[in-house]
Amino acid sequence: MKLYAPSTIRDIKDKYGFKLSKSLGQNFLTDKNIIDKIIDETEITDEDIVIEIGPGIGVLTAEACERAKKVVAVEIDKNLIPILKDTLSEYSNVEVINQDVLKTDLNEIIDKSGCKGAKIIGNLPYYITTPIIMALLEGGVHVDSITIMMQKEVADRIKSGPGTKAYGALSVAVQYYCTVNNVATVPKEVFFPAPKVDSAVLRLDLREEKPVELIDEKMFFRCVKAGFGQRRKTLSNSLLGIGDVTKEEVKLCLEETGIEEKRRAETLSLDEFAAISNWFSKRVR
Ligand code: SAM
Repeated sequence: MKLYAPSTIRDIKDKYGFKLSKSLGQNFLTDKNIIDKIIDETEITDEDIVIEIGPGIGVLTAEACERAKKVVAVEIDKNLIPILKDTLSEYSNVEVINQDVLKTDLNEIIDKSGCKGAKIIGNLPYYITTPIIMALLEGGVHVDSITIMMQKEVADRIKSGPGTKAYGALSVAVQYYCTVNNVATVPKEVFFPAPKVDSAVLRLDLREEKPVELIDEKMFFRCVKAGFGQRRKTLSNSLLGIGDVTKEEVKLCLEETGIEEKRRAETLSLDEFAAISNWFSKRVR
């Protein structure tokens, strides 16, 4: 059965009386080349566990089952569970969990599996792309990489560097935890039904060593959040958003770190954010 064919999706809808849910971001992938590209770029080995976020009717899941030792697919929509049981019936190395991925302890699943490597894949529901990425990274998920499809505009934000319009808190956060690799740009026409916007696939490789040394990670993210929270303001004003800091302290911090106070957060590199954050972490009060 060609799971990715629009005719299969229609047949499944008829057979199971399944209705695609817009609110759950159910735009299913119908292009075999893109499916293969996602799977190839994930570099799955037969010693890996693959966690899939939102399997839908299982187009990526089936391909992952062909290569991985074990596949665990987390799907929130209970109506898809009997369908997945059917479409994945030939695989004995797959487990489908009917749960919200944001409420699933992925590390427990990964650690219990005893597999050598762990990878995450997914064609993410647009409505919660950023919360999912941030939950995985902030939660310290025990994987080597995360290969995910998302709205192209979100991928652009993740990839972008200082001095660009797309650069923001999401770029800094993801680049702090991962190196970012382009996998593909995906036109909206290859989904059923077609969403309003194009997509892109990125592979995020979790860093073994962070790119900057931080005294306090929490302070780093407070600085990033404050800076981009008021991105049109100069640093001397926006950094006040860190909270519990005075105007004099912000001025002194920028002076001592050699960062011009008229600059804006969108021009700061990771190193500069780290310098500001470490200054506040060290300050004597
Ligand atoms: N992987 C399939 C594909 O590429 O055709 C489906 C992708 S579709 C864009 C997103 C899938 O994520 C849907 O099956 C949807 O029901 C599921 N989903 C949405 N929110 C979820 C959540 N919080 N946890 C787990 N799955 C979710």
